[in-house]
Amino acid sequence: MKLPKSVNQIIRSLQTAGYDAYAVGGCVRDALLGREPQDWDITTSATPEVVKSLFPHTIDTGIVHGTVTVMQNHVGYEVTTYRIDGEYADGRHPNEVTFTDNLLEDLRRRDFTINAMAYNDERGLVDAFEGEADLARGIIRCVGDARERFSEDALRMLRAVRFAAQLGFAIEERTAQAIRELSGTLEKVSAERIQTELLKILTSDHPEELRQAWELGLTAVFLPEFDCMMKAPQNNKHHCCSVGEHTLRALQEVSKDKVLRLTMLLHDVAKPACTSEDENGSQHFYGHPELGADMARQILRRLKFDNDTTARVCALVRFHDERPPLQEHILRRFVSRVGQERIPDLLAVKRADTLAQSTYHRQEKLEYVEALAKMYTRFLEDRQCLRKQDLAVNGKDLIALGIEPGPRIGAALDELLERVLDEPALNTKEKLLTLAHNFITPSI
Ligand code: ATP
Ligand code: MG
Repeated sequence: MKLPKSVNQIIRSLQTAGYDAYAVGGCVRDALLGREPQDWDITTSATPEVVKSLFPHTIDTGIVHGTVTVMQNHVGYEVTTYRIDGEYADGRHPNEVTFTDNLLEDLRRRDFTINAMAYNDERGLVDAFEGEADLARGIIRCVGDARERFSEDALRMLRAVRFAAQLGFAIEERTAQAIRELSGTLEKVSAERIQTELLKILTSDHPEELRQAWELGLTAVFLPEFDCMMKAPQNNKHHCCSVGEHTLRALQEVSKDKVLRLTMLLHDVAKPACTSEDENGSQHFYGHPELGADMARQILRRLKFDNDTTARVCALVRFHDERPPLQEHILRRFVSRVGQERIPDLLAVKRADTLAQSTYHRQEKLEYVEALAKMYTRFLEDRQCLRKQDLAVNGKDLIALGIEPGPRIGAALDELLERVLDEPALNTKEKLLTLAHNFITPSI
């Protein structure tokens, strides 16, 4: 295994000072798989004080848990003292950690065998729990007794699904059985920690592994809306499976972008609540995009997503099912309503949604989306005015004209934009100022 130069420098400095040090955890796993590690973590027998004294630039990242970030060639590396985790009374954090000088103790506290390997050039791979064999077999298996490990930290259950999704691995049967038994205890885990793992599942190569989180009883805890979707049939010609299966398919049809994947997850979240049946037994889901945007907002808040992500996802959910007629003036209004910068994402959402539906009229649906994309591109090429800030006049121009400063200015600009969306040729300063004359309140 080839460690980066900086990692070797840190390990050597620690060794020279008389301590043991290894690359450990996710980076060893990824290097063995030939994947680029996200970050290199180092585990050492040196205490945090010693680590701090050996390197000129360090940051106290998690000093109580033994973690110091060492800056080496302008990159930070987390160096953590070998430790034994105490009880996890709250299913979240170890109540206390004890430092140890025994590498095996440190490896034993880690979640899965594939994450419990260490490496340095002197000793080579330290693999006490058959991690390398599980990597070769493609298996996620707890270190030690699965039930015990999940009782210490319930988040590990969701991490098992996360690694299955990222690596395309299977969860070993006894590990899976323990998750089935203990899934309810995920409730003790903070929304922030759940969010991190959910995002990693969604943006992985296998977002459809969310199905497994459902089968194991995990989504019931943090996303019961998904369980409703899995149970909701869709009896109509546009669909061939449940709302949930359609959602899983749609996730696979969109690129690994956070906002796009969250949107596909939630685009039909309101369908179960909006289901009606006509006289022919066909089901309809009137109003699901609007209610869906509301539900998405609640769900994303509950999972502590930031406001920007939430706003972007909710807007895409709200507009995912709109099919404006392909007439320029109508489409300009649509683009203006959705927000010009959101259209590329919306097109991606519509493509994925279509590809996840039945083949009924699929070609026509896809052609429609491409026609929409083409018209939108032309608007941009022609530098058409689709936003207030692209009008040939601004607020100052209107004030100079004699319109009273304040809300009237915004209203006047809105009105001018409406006119320009209908008739782009109106977007010259002269024409707009003439139009704006009508908005001046006659003084008595
Ligand atoms: P990523 O590539 O996403 O960073 P990772 O395996 O490095 O994946 P991290 O969450 O960064 O995952 O954790 C680093 C290592 O710490 C893991 O490989 C594992 O050995 C250990 N670890 C992390 N979280 C837990 C946990 N909740 N319980 C036990 N061990 C854990
Ligand atoms: Mg990591």
